[in-house]
Amino acid sequence: MTLALPSDQEASGRTLGAEELEALREVIESGTLTSTKGKQVPGLEERFAALTGSAHAVACSSGTAAVHVAIAALDPEPGDEVVTTPITDMGALTPILFQGAVPVFADVDPRTGNVTAETIEAALSERTRAVVVTHLFGNPCEMEPITALAAARGLPVIEDCAQAYLARSAGRTVGTIGALGCFSLQQGKHVTTGEGGLVVTDDPALARRARLFVNKAWPYGEPNPDHEFLALNYRLSELQGAVARAQLDKLEGVVRRRVAMAERLTAALEGLEGIDTPWVAPGNEHTYWKYCLRVDPARVPGGPQALAAELRLGGIASAPRYIQKPAFQCAVFSNQRTFGESRWPFTLARPEAVDYSPERYPGTFRALDRVLVLPWNERYTEEHVDHLAGSIRRALAKVVGP
Ligand SMILES: *Cc1c(COP(=O)(O)O)cnc(C)c1O
Repeated sequence: MTLALPSDQEASGRTLGAEELEALREVIESGTLTSTKGKQVPGLEERFAALTGSAHAVACSSGTAAVHVAIAALDPEPGDEVVTTPITDMGALTPILFQGAVPVFADVDPRTGNVTAETIEAALSERTRAVVVTHLFGNPCEMEPITALAAARGLPVIEDCAQAYLARSAGRTVGTIGALGCFSLQQGKHVTTGEGGLVVTDDPALARRARLFVNKAWPYGEPNPDHEFLALNYRLSELQGAVARAQLDKLEGVVRRRVAMAERLTAALEGLEGIDTPWVAPGNEHTYWKYCLRVDPARVPGGPQALAAELRLGGIASAPRYIQKPAFQCAVFSNQRTFGESRWPFTLARPEAVDYSPERYPGTFRALDRVLVLPWNERYTEEHVDHLAGSIRRALAKVVGP
């Protein structure tokens, strides 16, 4: 028996509907499509700041732009180091290079794929200017020890929350724990306007720089404006702002349904030999961008690949590895492909900062070798989850054998 699961790549797995259409109609009829003159993007920013409990929110054109805005707000010197993770979206890394800083990769906890205070500490140097953490798959990093470490060194932390809307670490909403939080509104995230992003912060000076960076550093509404520094146009349009605003009204429900169905799947898979359900640090709340299993190749012959192949026969899609290789093995890093032939800003880096020897990253390779990513979204019902659980049990039994 097969049952089609809803997909976040089209209507079946999204919450787009009448509210978004109505908001779009209003914008079109107003004739004002730019956020510099309209009301939708400012309204979106106000709503998102309130929803996360931040003093300021700045909308921008993508999650990649959001990370770029956050880095630019901190204004690193060329060659400054930014400690981050090799298991993330490339859009969390390339902005560091575009801003002239050097990403330095910390290893990860193989249970979650997240960086920890210990792995970050091992990657710090005299040149470290900031830390960027990704709350991978919606499962928060353990933020208390990370912020304690960063505060002791006077380092700002940027939280990449593109996968982790409304997740919490030790009772605090992610994105509001560090100096800046970044979010994506891309098609496959918890809420979407196709492409889009948001940055939150409590710091008024960082908020001003963030807003300027989105607007070619032109301070709209201030006296004696000037283009104050090097910046881009990263604005969201009013059309996107309208859709995003309607989507935000649905976010809490989206998160609730994702979590409830994930907990149902975890309960249904309890006790299966050779696979582990998501590990969440005590006190943390996972909001399930994806649902990840860890498959032990010592007990499941062929590991996640074998289980994925068996699941595919039953019509269930899954992704072993999540990303095929750690970010530092992608050409932009391994061959330092940046601006022309220059290799800049890698030319400014300490040799150790760009030493990507695999033995320095045991947690990273272990995490990627074991993870099996199951697509997830807010339209999964109990029937879908029970079908999925049954399919996983049958596939596992086939792979493990009698
Ligand atoms: C999606 C994502 C990004 C990039 O967002 P885009 O909107 O696709 O540019 C950055 N970081 C993480 C962790 C992501 O999941």
